[in-house]
Amino acid sequence: MPSFEGPLLVGIDIGGTKIAVLVCDESRRVLARGEAPAPVADGGSAVADAAARLVHQLTSGRTVRAAGVGAAGVIDHESGSIRAASATFTDWVGFPLASELADRLGCVVTVENDVNAFLLGEASPHEQDVLGVMLGTGVGGAVLMDGELRRGPHGAAGEIGHTPGYGDLLCTCGQTGHLETLASGTSIALRYTARTGRTVAGSREVAALADAGDADALAVFRDAGRALGTACASAAALLDISDAIVGGGVARAWHLLQPGIDDALRTDAPVTGIPLRIRPATHGADAVALGAIASARALALVPVA
Ligand SMILES: [Zn+2]
Repeated sequence: MPSFEGPLLVGIDIGGTKIAVLVCDESRRVLARGEAPAPVADGGSAVADAAARLVHQLTSGRTVRAAGVGAAGVIDHESGSIRAASATFTDWVGFPLASELADRLGCVVTVENDVNAFLLGEASPHEQDVLGVMLGTGVGGAVLMDGELRRGPHGAAGEIGHTPGYGDLLCTCGQTGHLETLASGTSIALRYTARTGRTVAGSREVAALADAGDADALAVFRDAGRALGTACASAAALLDISDAIVGGGVARAWHLLQPGIDDALRTDAPVTGIPLRIRPATHGADAVALGAIASARALALVPVA
């Protein structure tokens, strides 16, 4: 870690397979980063232990002023516990992640949904009203309005991946026609197989085929881009939002999504006439941890009564 004497801020990104940690100074300059496997099948305590161990390694026992977590699932923002999560996480629902990590790290801890944290990490100071979309295994969404996250009364605002109207394919949630059925990495691979009969390992392989000129692969990405653009246009019309930031593994193939996004913006641009900018994320794998640090920093700046 570079020499630095001030208090440290820590961002922790807890995903289904790995935990990523960033250590920053108070101006969010990155001082150290690391990764460890996420033992999500072993329960909440095991995940908290693994995260704390990684933080201790990276900070070498230095004082941490505040830590922020971006975690998959619906978060009870008041208590910092997990309200709902995918079945891959054992004993995660109801786990008091914020207080358990606060005990282990000896500092205040804030917990945010991972897509919310992604958007906090990616949005520039000029992007105060912005939609965030993560195209990964599934499709997640988040909304920033007047510079503040819109979480909703149940912590579930922004779930754009499970909005309907995109065809009749079965979604992972059990309903049909959701955005996720066309635009997630999983769906891109499934759609390619449905068109060609050829099994692929994932959306990255479909992207490689598209780059080699495979017409079916290009069409699958174009369909994903068009669905994504339509969803962003709907959100823009509803919320008077003129920026959308798209991240996740699928967004790395932005040049393949762009033609479909352009199609959607040509035919379905918001009737307000306000231009809608849809751009790829720029912070890569750091975005969730950076956003978690932003929320931890905001918490740490609030004087304790
Ligand atoms: Zn769904």
